[in-house]
Amino acid sequence: MDLHLISNDPTDAEREAVHAALDHTGANHTGANHTGANHTARDGTAGGVALRAERGGQAIRSQRHLLLGALHALVDRVGWISPEGLGYVSKRLGVAPAEVYGVASFYAMLPLTPRTGPVAHLCVDLSCRLVGNDALRKRLERNGNTTVVEAPCLGVCERAPAALVTTPGPIPHHQLYAAPAVPLAQQGQPGLVLLRRVGVADPADIDSYRAHGGYAALRRALSIGPVEVLRELNEAGLVGRGGAAFPTGRKWEAVARQPNRPHYVVCNADESEPGTFKDRILMEEDPFAVIEAMTIAAFATGCERGWIYLRGEYPQARHRLETAIVAARAKGLLGLDISSQLGFAETAGRFGFDIEVFRGAGAYICGEETAIFNSIEGYRGEPRAKPPFPVDVGLFGQPTLVNNVETLVNVLPIVQAGPAAYRGQGTEASPGPKLFCLSGSVRRPGLYEVGFGATLGQLIELAGGPPDGRSVQAVLLGGAAGSFVGPDQLDLPLTFEATRATGVTIGSGVVIVLDDRADLIDFLRRIAAFFRDESCGQCVPCRVGTVRQEEALVRLSSKVSNPATDLALLGEVGQAMRDASICGLGQTAWNAIESAIERFALFQESQERSP
Ligand code: SF4
Repeated sequence: MDLHLISNDPTDAEREAVHAALDHTGANHTGANHTGANHTARDGTAGGVALRAERGGQAIRSQRHLLLGALHALVDRVGWISPEGLGYVSKRLGVAPAEVYGVASFYAMLPLTPRTGPVAHLCVDLSCRLVGNDALRKRLERNGNTTVVEAPCLGVCERAPAALVTTPGPIPHHQLYAAPAVPLAQQGQPGLVLLRRVGVADPADIDSYRAHGGYAALRRALSIGPVEVLRELNEAGLVGRGGAAFPTGRKWEAVARQPNRPHYVVCNADESEPGTFKDRILMEEDPFAVIEAMTIAAFATGCERGWIYLRGEYPQARHRLETAIVAARAKGLLGLDISSQLGFAETAGRFGFDIEVFRGAGAYICGEETAIFNSIEGYRGEPRAKPPFPVDVGLFGQPTLVNNVETLVNVLPIVQAGPAAYRGQGTEASPGPKLFCLSGSVRRPGLYEVGFGATLGQLIELAGGPPDGRSVQAVLLGGAAGSFVGPDQLDLPLTFEATRATGVTIGSGVVIVLDDRADLIDFLRRIAAFFRDESCGQCVPCRVGTVRQEEALVRLSSKVSNPATDLALLGEVGQAMRDASICGLGQTAWNAIESAIERFALFQESQERSP
């Protein structure tokens, strides 16, 4: 066993960065955490896991939830986490160096090897792959002092190809290189529900938000009370938009009836499914809607604090959300007494709530709700075994409501106009509006809102269809964890019931169109590489299965194997991952590849040729 002792001091820049991150939050002085919450660690001990600290005891150990922020601060300031910087964070927070290393090494955006100067995170994922990123790569490489690293989906697929360049320093800089931004194609269109303010209201101005209907839903929620809000949510039939489609009202009720206090609400803004960018656009262009919807959720379920777990690749969304939170606090629309501020103190009682943005650090698995809890608490973002479910034992051991951004934004029209109006769109089993992310081979890639029930073909037409002279070869529906459909299935209605009956999934609303030029096998290899890379490694079926899956695909595509053997192996490995993985990542890692092999009879030609 090698023992690495950290004896050297950090540089002044590293020390300052960590000071700024921790002292800003009040860490390490009083032992009180910056949220004011009575945190209980995941092992049930008050204030944190009982680690041996060099000094400090309970007060220091209770600061573990500041770990990711401190590591971000080092990377922002000097570009990487040096052993000395790591050791300094370890001492400040009373977390053992090996534990800090374990956390830092989990996240792609926390490098542990020297990097100085700008770093370009070049997306090599699905939509950018289809469009081609060679020219962008060369352009970035020509800039001599920029390090180019390959990155999974950056969530800007409508502007593919894309790269995010981060430059460390006293004021870190983030710059997105991508195709020019085009306005929302449906901007200002009558009848929009979820996107009605996008491009219309000023996302930095709370008065503009209010002038466009903002805070009307919260007012109504305060006037009708929590029980009625929950009843309307159930009547509206809203289900989660993150992919699992769980009934939102039932989840809210489960948190509301928990006697254990405090309750927390977490907005899952870690949209990392390749091809998904809807939540980013909502957060960037309508951030107050996310805040208002979280406030209604808190009021209805008795939550005191809220966190927006935002993926690290979204600096613009972070800026917009943080600006909006400050503005909402200044108007008394976040803070100790929101109901009085809106004139409902007598009917709604005193209701206080506040939100902070928590910055993820590049891990797809942190879109899983219990992985989010571990990440916020300062641990590796590994999913927890369920039960207990988050509504019973969630963040810091407390009952926690987790909803995705789009789900929350759907709450506003339901509460504002009532469930009957909401059900005016969609079908009986899939009511309301839905956002879809169109990318790949369409003339107007972007975000589109339609009522459930529009067909896949209509949606692709809305985005302009494939370029002139091209035809649809395949469509990936639902992202890397979704399924492929063929050009003969474009009349598929986009509802939960119709997609389920066809054996596909709407997932998070991804629609990636592959035209007749696309290399479908290369696309599948990328999906396999993505899951192999993003598996957290906690359980064997997924950790080993994603590797074997990629290896078999590589062999099949290079025609060096017996296709029958490798196709059988893929099927067995895929089934094992589906049946025995702990979380959705492993359970769905085979879906898209299986659907492509079956629908398009891939590798059959080589199978016929094999001995
Ligand atoms: Fe981790 Fe994969 Fe297991 Fe999920 S299925 S816990 S990502 S190893």
